Amino acid sequence: MGSGKRSDYLPEEERGANFAQIPTSFGHELRACLRCRLVKTYDQFRESGCENCPFLEMDKEHDNVVNCTTPNFTGIISVMDSARSWSARWLRIGKIYL
Ligand SMILES: [Zn+2]
Repeated sequence: MGSGKRSDYLPEEERGANFAQIPTSFGHELRACLRCRLVKTYDQFRESGCENCPFLEMDKEHDNVVNCTTPNFTGIISVMDSARSWSARWLRIGKIYL
C-alpha cells in the first residue's frame, strides 16, 4: 500500500522530486513569498520556510516570515505539471516549486 504521500501518485520518473507544501487553509493567514511568490500559510512558512528560498531561513528566524512574505496579493495559480504547463511558462514559474 502507498504511504499517502503525493509522490505515490506520480509516474516513476517523477518520484523523488521535491514539492512545496500545499496551503493548509485559504483564509486571511495566507502569505506569498516576496521573492518567488510561493503561497502558504504563516504557520507553514514559520515551520518549514520557503522551498524555493531556503536561504531566507524563515524556519530558523521567524521574523523573516513577516519580512520576506506579504499577505497583500491577488490571485493564486496551482500547477500540476510545470514542465508542460503553458500557464507556468507564461508566468515564468516553470522551474520553481509552486
Ligand atoms: Zn520563496
